[in-house]
Amino acid sequence: MDINQDAVVVGGGFYGAAIAIYLAKQRGFKRIVLVEREPALFTRASYNNQARVHNGYHYPRSFTTAYRSRVNLPKFVRDWPDAVRQDFTKLYAIARRNSKVTPKQFERFCREIGAKIQPAEPSLRALFEPGLIEEVFVVEEYAFDSTKLASWAVRELEDCGVKIHLQKTVTAISNGPNQTLQVALKSENGSEELITCRYVFNCTYSGLNQFKGDFPGTQTGLKQEVTEMALMKVPSALEGLGVTVMDGPFFSMMPFPARGLHTLSHVRYTPHMHWNDEQGIDPYQKLDQYDRATRVDRMVRDVGRYLPAIRDAKYIESLFEIKTVLVKNEGDDGRPILFEKHPVLPKCYSILGGKVDNIYDVLEKLDAEEFDLI
Ligand SMILES: Cc1cc2nc3c(=O)[nH]c(=O)nc-3n(C[C@H](O)[C@H](O)[C@H](O)COP(=O)(O)OP(=O)(O)OC[C@H]3O[C@@H](n4cnc5c(N)ncnc54)[C@H](O)[C@@H]3O)c2cc1C
Repeated sequence: MDINQDAVVVGGGFYGAAIAIYLAKQRGFKRIVLVEREPALFTRASYNNQARVHNGYHYPRSFTTAYRSRVNLPKFVRDWPDAVRQDFTKLYAIARRNSKVTPKQFERFCREIGAKIQPAEPSLRALFEPGLIEEVFVVEEYAFDSTKLASWAVRELEDCGVKIHLQKTVTAISNGPNQTLQVALKSENGSEELITCRYVFNCTYSGLNQFKGDFPGTQTGLKQEVTEMALMKVPSALEGLGVTVMDGPFFSMMPFPARGLHTLSHVRYTPHMHWNDEQGIDPYQKLDQYDRATRVDRMVRDVGRYLPAIRDAKYIESLFEIKTVLVKNEGDDGRPILFEKHPVLPKCYSILGGKVDNIYDVLEKLDAEEFDLI
């Protein structure tokens, strides 16, 4: 049994790993345990995502998120240069009908957030159906390789002496004696153990509210979505490209460096079902029980109307994952962080990043915290 840890970090995705490394390297935490329910780190949302390093373009309805992305992207490129792919052309296209933004508004918005934008040359415009697409822009947006981020995390965690428990699920977080916290773990074989620690960092993304004990749940409402992204081998005409059609019921096609393929997502077909998060409704269980019937045919049919070359893409498989967003941002699509302390469970933090570059907003919040490690 582990006792008297400085911190237990729950969740071995990008956020749990980056926060454990930060605590060890920059805040003097010596004994850190990282608990992950899966057999390896970075297998959930930190792998099953669209791999976009946001640079603001995606958020014309949320200035704050767009602006923060602009601030954070250069830092992300600086800190993980090997994991960031810049060697593709990124196009944002504006649909003629049903778009929530016009080309002029989009250009103005990009100027306001200081993001580079220029009209695409004719050979790139020719990829799109002119009756449906009004304007095509070349922008500066990158993709990350989640397997490279995972390798970084494994290396650094080992270097910092963080003890990793895989295939163990944290079931409860409670107050212990002398201002400690007690974390209950359950292994795959059903055996249970208790870790006593000073601090808990709950970085479980979709699992943020699924604890018993004294854990009160987050105050911020969460929405859970079962999502599907199709992994495609695109034809040569689309190979060096990323494409996003804005802004409304449209789609994105992005390089997925971890597999050397592209992901295809569609605003109408990627979300399969959703519910408001509740303690006791385990999102991972819900996804396990879901039949995962692919909607790739519908995605390709609709995307092909705008970008005909996609019809020649080969479908490989789909990535299904739970996407967790804040209920309050449903309308504007913003992606602020969730950073909560729980008055009934002092020294327990619940953290949800929303997108990978938000790590800097989280670290800024942690920088402002005083930790008592005596
Ligand atoms: C479909 C989709 C597309 C996305 N596209 C992008 C994008 O293009 N760009 C971008 O920046 N972001 C994107 N995101 C968001 C991004 O994936 C997340 O912000 C990020 O991965 C969250 O990292 P995390 O470490 O918080 O979550 P995760 O990687 O999910 O890590 C949480 C970990 O906690 C573990 N866990 C949960 N409960 C417990 C428990 N009780 N005990 C032990 N372990 C537990 C889980 O197994 C998991 O490994 C997307 C997300 C989805 C789903």
